[in-house]
Amino acid sequence: MKTHAPAPIGLFGGTFDPIHHGHLRPALELLEILALREVRLLPCADPPHRGAPMAPGPFRLEMAQAAVHDQPGLVVDDREMRREGPSFTLDTLQSFRDEYGLEQPLCLILGSDAFMGLPSWDRWEGLLDLAHIVVAHRPGWQLEPEPVLARLMRERGTGRMEDLHQVPAGRVFSQQVTQLEISSTTIREILDRGGSVRYLSPDPVVRMIEGSPYYARHPVRSMARVT
Ligand code: ATP
Repeated sequence: MKTHAPAPIGLFGGTFDPIHHGHLRPALELLEILALREVRLLPCADPPHRGAPMAPGPFRLEMAQAAVHDQPGLVVDDREMRREGPSFTLDTLQSFRDEYGLEQPLCLILGSDAFMGLPSWDRWEGLLDLAHIVVAHRPGWQLEPEPVLARLMRERGTGRMEDLHQVPAGRVFSQQVTQLEISSTTIREILDRGGSVRYLSPDPVVRMIEGSPYYARHPVRSMARVT
């Protein structure tokens, strides 16, 4: 591919309460498929759209670090944890722009559910001024965007990955990733009934969860069935 700009940085935000393979596998696939420089995982401190997470920010951050410590190209970024107030994505993108300058392509990675909720986000129309949006397909979520998002996809959508490299922001790109029907909610529910979450999340994260007071109402059995 002919380009003079640095390769895009992928930015993947989430509550990560806890982080699981449904986050990690798409992040790794997008890193490789889109030839990104790296993917930053951004655990949010105070999610504006939902109730307070079960686990405190520093613990969610540590789980994310444990999940990717041996995977080159996946990097945990704690900037949302260091900011006061609600973790608005626009502020996060602006801080990357300030740090990396106007030429650096940035790709905001969203699962399909997050993308479809975009119009409720604070100052959402400004996001594309600062970054591209990459939509990663999530099991159980058809991309049926409301009219304002459908228009955005018509006007800004591209099927050419090169566009993400050649301009710093402004395009919407959608990518199939391996479908892993895992959610943090399901993990919390399994833990709440005393089940094992092994194989849903990397082993170091499972060990952290099992040793923590945050999720399980009952002690977790190490060999319990998942369903
Ligand atoms: P919860 O069940 O608590 O809502 P979650 O599993 O949806 O959590 P989040 O931390 O809220 O995880 O999600 C962060 C991002 O990861 C979102 O963009 C979301 O769409 C995406 N995501 C989460 N799980 C998957 C999955 N299994 N496949 C693809 N994308 C996912």
